[in-house]
Amino acid sequence: MKLLIAITGASSGIGAAAAKAFSKAGYPLLLMARRVEKLEALSLADCMCKAVDVTMPEQIHTALAAAEADFGKVDCLINNAGVMMLGLPWEQDPAEWQKMVDVNIMGVLNGIHQVLPDMVKRQTGTIINVSSLAGRKTFSLHSAYCATKFAVHALSETIREEVSQFNVRVITIAPGAVETELITHTTQEKHQQAWRQGLGGILKPENIANAILFAYEQPQEVCLREIVITPTGQQG
Ligand code: NDP
Repeated sequence: MKLLIAITGASSGIGAAAAKAFSKAGYPLLLMARRVEKLEALSLADCMCKAVDVTMPEQIHTALAAAEADFGKVDCLINNAGVMMLGLPWEQDPAEWQKMVDVNIMGVLNGIHQVLPDMVKRQTGTIINVSSLAGRKTFSLHSAYCATKFAVHALSETIREEVSQFNVRVITIAPGAVETELITHTTQEKHQQAWRQGLGGILKPENIANAILFAYEQPQEVCLREIVITPTGQQG
């Protein structure tokens, strides 16, 4: 049996596509998200589905413990759960900033905190953090979202430097525009739709899932530190 892969935010979009790609490749899975019924609806083999809010470390801990009891130690954690809410900084509700900080930054750190001690001890393992092109460059209306994704890049690279000596990989995936539910949670959905239509085609979640699987399946001594993947027609 292949080693256990844990994915946060697997109930839709990139996380669900990653779940399907890894399942097809034969990996046992722990899928986490708040909408557990959407995880279960994927109907994947060797797959444990758990209702987990990544802002609640104890929920991640309980889910990981249950999956590891069935499938053995987690070899790869894919920190994919994220939210994007956009707006001008003098108009946007600060509660939206707090939500993005809690999910996009704390959620990633919470997952890492759970799995890293064991990976360091075993001297193997992989953490894959789904950041964004908005973690490398700025976009108007994205001030707080960009801040959280720049943070994901920063924490990923710092931790990668710290754990490289223990043969543990940290990989950052930075997608451009992808067709998912992400933009449906912002008051700027119409603006986002118009911008995306102007690109002349955006990526499918499967495109990102394939990149994640490719990065993971490199030999443990090969670390693809960062993959930036965008639609070819995306200029900015
Ligand atoms: P979706 O909205 O389709 O998926 C987001 C996932 O995150 C859902 O499964 C959702 O599950 C989960 N999630 C949200 N909040 C929480 C929480 N508190 N606890 C646990 N899970 C949570 O969007 P994408 O697939 O696009 O997003 C995946 C990642 O990709 C995000 O980090 C996003 O920032 C990043 N990204 C997306 C891009 C795009 O254009 N789509 C571009 C660049 C990066 P549930 O609601 O069931 O909890």
